This record gives sequence, structure tokens and C-alpha cells, in this order.
Amino acid sequence: MSSPSPIVGIDLGTTNSLVAFCDEAGPRVLGEDALVPSVVRFEDSGGVTVGREARERAAEFPGRTISSVKRLMGRSVTDAAAALRYLPYRVVRGENDTARVEVPLGAGPRVVSPQEVSSLILRSLKERASKALGTEVSRAVITVPAYFDDAQRQATRDAGRLAGLDVVRIVNEPTAAALAYGLGAGVTGETGERIVAVYDLGGGTFDISILRITPAQAAGETSFFEVLATAGDTQLGGDDADHALMRLILGDDPESLGHADRRLLQREAESVKWKLSDRETAVAEVTLSVGARRTEITRADYERAIRPLIDRTIEHCRRAVSDASARGAVAIDRVIMVGGMTRTPLVRREVGRQFGLEPYIAVDPDRVVALGAAVQGSILSGSTRGALLLDVIPLSLGIETVGGAVAKLIVRNSTVPARAREFFSTSVDNQTAIRLSVFQGEREMAADCRRLGEFHLRGIPPMPAGIPQLEVEFLVDSSGVLNVSAHERRSGKRAALQVIPNHGLTREEVDRMERESFTHAREDMTRHRIVDLIANSALDLKWIGERFQRYQHILEPENRVELQNRIDELRSILERARTDWKSVDADAFHRAKEALDRASMRLQEVGIAMSLRESPNRLG
Ligand code: ADP
Ligand code: MG
Repeated sequence: MSSPSPIVGIDLGTTNSLVAFCDEAGPRVLGEDALVPSVVRFEDSGGVTVGREARERAAEFPGRTISSVKRLMGRSVTDAAAALRYLPYRVVRGENDTARVEVPLGAGPRVVSPQEVSSLILRSLKERASKALGTEVSRAVITVPAYFDDAQRQATRDAGRLAGLDVVRIVNEPTAAALAYGLGAGVTGETGERIVAVYDLGGGTFDISILRITPAQAAGETSFFEVLATAGDTQLGGDDADHALMRLILGDDPESLGHADRRLLQREAESVKWKLSDRETAVAEVTLSVGARRTEITRADYERAIRPLIDRTIEHCRRAVSDASARGAVAIDRVIMVGGMTRTPLVRREVGRQFGLEPYIAVDPDRVVALGAAVQGSILSGSTRGALLLDVIPLSLGIETVGGAVAKLIVRNSTVPARAREFFSTSVDNQTAIRLSVFQGEREMAADCRRLGEFHLRGIPPMPAGIPQLEVEFLVDSSGVLNVSAHERRSGKRAALQVIPNHGLTREEVDRMERESFTHAREDMTRHRIVDLIANSALDLKWIGERFQRYQHILEPENRVELQNRIDELRSILERARTDWKSVDADAFHRAKEALDRASMRLQEVGIAMSLRESPNRLG
């Protein structure tokens, strides 16, 4: 029996979206024509048209027909710059550089967010699901690419909320594809860890993900899905194959392209492409300004034309495999084909050859993600017994400490949901407000990571530096959304931040941040250490210096000389570290700080007993 409020699975794709549901009979796609093109047309009346009809008549309504909006979700205009060149509608800058779509309507331009556009697609899927199931659907699992960061996931959640859906879980697309094949769902009867490659060639994007699946060992236990590596190209997909075919159709008469209706031509090219997935030849009929043209295209011609595109995807596969093997993936056990373009025989052949495995194609490649999301939905609603799905955090999350280093609270690849708590204190006497800046990334310094947001904890009663006890908690919920809270224990003051970051990272950035963290690991660690030493030594010197002035009369003469020498020594290292940290030996710096600490023992017993030796991380 399914629960009273069904949880559907939604694949919110760049090109096509679909909704599926899973009950005792297994997962199935809902609605007659399963695929809903992710296209929205805004009408003058204030209404909207979603799906096939919007896609088919896009040429008639340029500017107000919005496609590929997924490329803008949770992104800033700056981040999305590369995508913008290809979008046939106007993207404008919203608050905080967020991307907004400007739709020209009779009454004047209307500005909408990518979340709103996506919500219209989701609303249409929600309606078709409600109709098919004969009950109001209000809960869904929605999939996103594995490389989507917090901001992009949050934007997807927001789109769901705007559509009146309770988004019970955001799931990675490759994870959903694996679930659709029963991998990790505890129904295959297999045990032991498996490495799965998910090759996803859609309309405009290519993603390759390598997952490690540790299946549940017993009923009620947890399957673990870990994304070991992702690679791909956000500007490579079925559209490029259409363009290659258009060139074939036009032959050596590129002039005629200028006169032809590009969109109609692409539609014809796409239908030829589909035919060539099943047949050896297909005929394209197009009307050009020079008259009607009939061109017969063979599969061999077509394959020659798209070969460079496919080779590029294989290159990405090699990279992903090598990244995954650096993380312990010995051999790929299976390859799952996802995305409509993987119906192309050449794609299957080349992927099979590259991995030395027959690719999994039993489930429709353009439905597999939605079906897997539905399986996840049924697991969550309790109607499928077995595994609980876990995903991982793609990049570490932390907080900036004084001096600009990042204290990482949750490290990358932690399973979600994840919770971490750490204590911090202040760096200045009588500080009544603390700024908390949240960062994401692998590098040690905040400047090299990405700022996700910041907030202030105010109204702390004045206390000497190091005395306030600030407890900071990071909580990443099961959809990867981050909540940060801070609590000053002595005063009871609290503040919290839900990280709804302004915009997201591109995959290239995630890749780059990860690569750089390897390249810079050693240097970064030294720098982090020196930055902490600078912050703590400065405090020591200030505190000890003050007390030295005041109480030196109580010291033995030789202790006084020794202490003065240690102060001078640490001060000179500190100054050098401030101007040129690379010229400073971190170990020597540390020793000098400890020597001062020891020499000032006697002083430390005077006045308030405050140890700086075990001082917690301090915030600016
Ligand atoms: P997305 O994940 O980007 O929303 P899809 O997985 O739905 O995209 O894939 C859409 C792409 O698949 C389009 O380029 C479409 O032309 C292509 N496609 C669909 N069916 C076939 C087929 N039979 N042969 C080749 N390509 C196909
Ligand atoms: Mg897809």
C-alpha cells in the first residue's frame, strides 16, 4: 500500500523534465507523452504555456519563450556568462548579481527569476501527476546534477516550494540513475561495494560521474552513495549533434543557412538524428530560400560528423576515471547510460569500448533519472523497504577565523545530513559583536575559498579577548542545504543563518578549487599555521607586554632580561611574518611563541588567570 500522500520523483532537466511514481508494481513515468520539454512561454494575458506547445512554437514567440533555464538556477550573471551567449532570451542582473530573465510583454517587460520559471515547469508536472494518480500530489524528490552546489540546490528547492511542492529530498542525478537499476536499493541481492560510472549526454550538457555504492548489508540498513568524481561539459550535448546534422543537410551551401529558419531546420535535423539511431539512412526535407531540398543522410556520414563531439565526452570519461582512481576506485563495475543522446549507437559503442563493458541500457535513458527519483520517493515514504539514500557534501564548509584562515567544520565527502560543532572566541577585548563568515572550498585561506554568506552575533557583554565562548554549529540537511547557528554561552546570545547563497559555482570552479587544493596543500597548511601564529602571538605580545610594563618589578632580574629577549624575538618574527610570511619558518615561529609563554610563567600568575596557550580559534 502506498502512503496517503504520495512522493513523486521529478527529473527537472535542462531540455526535458518528467515526473514518475513508484509503488508495489515498480516505478513508472506519469502522463501520456512522458517528456515535458523544459520550455515556458509567457503570455500577454499573464498566463503561461509549458512544454511541447511552447517548444514547438518558440520561433513564433522569440524573447518570451524561455528554455534551458536550469543553466541559470542559483547562478550569478557573472557565473553564467558562458551560458548566456547561447540563450535566445534576455538575461538581466538582479540583486546581488543574480541572474533574472526579462520577458517582453505587451504591457511592458516582466522580470522573473529562474526559480519562478522552473516552478512553472514543476507546477505542470505536479498537475499531470495529480491527474494520473487521482489524488493531490504535494511531495516530491527532485534531482540535480552531482556538481550542483548549495546555491543551485537551494534554488531548486525554492522552485519546488513556489510550485506548491514539499521537496522532501534533492538527489544527485547519477545516484537516481543507479537507483533505477536497483543498485543500492537492496533489491539486487548483491553484496559488496560497487563502482558505477554514469554517462549522461542530454540536450545541452554532458556529465560523467563515478559513484561508489556500498549497498545496505541488511534490511533497514543504509546504502551509501558516494560521488568519487565528476567531469563533463556544460556546453556539449544533443544540440551540437543537431548542428552537425544541419551542416550536413545544407551541404556546401552555407549561404542558405542565413535564409533558412534556423529553428525549423534544427527540428528537422533532430528528427533525422532520432531516425538514425534506429536506421542506416534518413531523409531530411527542408525549405530554403533557394527552394525545397531533400537530402539523404547515412548513419556513416552522421557518425563522422559527430565523432569529435563523442571523442570529447570520452576524454572527460578518462579524466573522471583517473580522478576516481586517485580516490580508491580500482575498477569500474558498470556503466549506466543516461540522457536521450545515448540512444545514438556510436555513443554506446564508444562508451562500451572506453570502459571495456557493455553499457546498461535496459531502462530508457531519458527516463532513468525520473524513475530513480521515484524509487527514492517510495523509500522515503516507507513503501519500499530497504536502503536509505545518503549523499555527500562536494566541498568542505567552514568559518573564517582572525587572520583570514578557514576553520573547516564539515569536510568534503561527509555524508549528509551532517552536523558539526566547534568553539570559538574573540580576538579583541570588549568585543560586543562577532562577524561570522561562512566559506566553502578546499583551500586553507578564506581568500581562496568561496564566501557563502555572513552574519553577526551582537549584544555580547564586554569581556576580555578569549573569554567569550562561542559555539558554532553547522548543520547540512539531507538535501545539502546549510544552516549555521552561533551561541555565546556566557551571555546566552544566539544568531543563525540559513545559507541561501546568492549564486552557485560552475563545475569548472568546483574542479579548479579541488585541483588547486591539491597543488597548494602544503603551502596552504603552512600559511594557515603562520596566520594562526600571527593572530595568537599578537595577542600574547599585547597581553604579556602590558603586564610586563606593570609588574616587571616583581620579577627576578635575570627573568626580566630573559622575558625582554623573548618578547623582542617573537615581535621580530611576528613583524617579518606580517610582511612576508614565506620567509618565516613556522616551526621556529612556534618555538619562539612557546619560549615566550614559558618565560612569562611568573607574569601569567599575576592579575587575572587567563591562559593563552590553549586559546581557541578567534574570530574577527
Ligand atoms: P536533458 O537531461 O538535457 O533534459 P534529455 O536526457 O531529455 O536532456 O536528452 C535530450 C536530448 O536527447 C536531445 O538532444 C534529443 O534530441 C536527444 N534524443 C532523444 N531521443 C533520441 C534518439 N532516439 N536518438 C538520438 N538522440 C535523441
Ligand atoms: Mg538529464
